[in-house]
Amino acid sequence: MIASERSTVPVFEPVIGDAETANVLAAIESGSISGSFGRFITAFEERFARYCGCQYGVAVTSGSTALHLAAVLAKIEPGDEVLVSASTNIATANAIVQCGGKVVPVDVCRDSWCMDTNLLEDLVTPRTKAILPVHLFGHPVDMDQVWWVAARHGLVTIEDAAEAHGAKYHGRKVGGLSDVACFSFYANKVITTGEGGMLVTDRADYAERARSLRNLAFRTPRFWHTEVGYNYRMTNLQAAIGCGQLDRIEDTIQAKRTLAHRYNERLGSVAGLRLPVELPGCRNVYWMYGIVVEPEFRMTRDELTHLLAAHGIETRTMFCPLNFQPALLDLDAVGRAPCPVAESLWSHGLYLPSTPTLTDSDLDYICDVIAGRAR
Ligand SMILES: *Cc1c(COP(=O)(O)O)cnc(C)c1O
Repeated sequence: MIASERSTVPVFEPVIGDAETANVLAAIESGSISGSFGRFITAFEERFARYCGCQYGVAVTSGSTALHLAAVLAKIEPGDEVLVSASTNIATANAIVQCGGKVVPVDVCRDSWCMDTNLLEDLVTPRTKAILPVHLFGHPVDMDQVWWVAARHGLVTIEDAAEAHGAKYHGRKVGGLSDVACFSFYANKVITTGEGGMLVTDRADYAERARSLRNLAFRTPRFWHTEVGYNYRMTNLQAAIGCGQLDRIEDTIQAKRTLAHRYNERLGSVAGLRLPVELPGCRNVYWMYGIVVEPEFRMTRDELTHLLAAHGIETRTMFCPLNFQPALLDLDAVGRAPCPVAESLWSHGLYLPSTPTLTDSDLDYICDVIAGRAR
């Protein structure tokens, strides 16, 4: 069906396959539905950790709670500063603030839209505790400089890989590039469990502590607690969906890459649009296909958004930079230094429909509207 024949082309729709349905039925029939039991939890953790090239996986309720646990593992405490990509989902910053820490936004690169790691060294202070890069829209962060600055100043590294399952940096998958990494399995992520998340790490101490903290910090004897934990347990039903999604993850990524290449081909000749890149040594999984509207384009970002909406094509703006977030500013929990590139993505960036099953005719129609060629 082409876009003009139905109400809207959504920005994203999850694709749920037969394996997911069969796994969920098996979980229900076995009676193992919660987070404390069930073979799908351990299978999903082991398989996803292996996929990332990591020793341990700890499944939790969301990307947000994975980030919160990572901040707790990194021992972020009141007064500590964390260097965070300025352009990201608010959940990245919330994890720091919920531990009492302060967010120091790091501006992003004009090409990859990821943390500009050349800025890191000048932002380190005696209070800096960790670096939290975000692999934005599926492109990996330039980790070399992150590792160098972290080693030089003894900082913990935490990847926010919520948008980048399967992305690679010099042949290594994201998730395995830091002390502890966080993934989301929300409905629109590269793979989904409806809601859900996972920490992956090579550190046995982190994995053990994360398993304890997600389960109310139970220990022996039972019901006797020495630490305040959380209930961040993923259910076996969610893990059952996750196992099915993981069976097909490489096909999903391939479909996203094919979609991005087709968008690139169709939009490459349109003046005034900045398209996503794939820097040397990187594999971009193109979580969402973003574009930036530059002055040479014949209309503003908002005008383009309205034009697309009028043709039944849904879009989203890029993220509001952390240094602009009232929730963080009101608490004095964020640095106020300008982040001009992240700010320009907020005012000039948007992303286009990115469902891996988007048809060629819908994609061509979207590009025709953008190029001013649509009926
Ligand atoms: C989606 C997302 C999160 C939060 O994940 P949830 O599962 O929605 O809590 C965190 N960081 C980034 C970069 C995200 O895109």
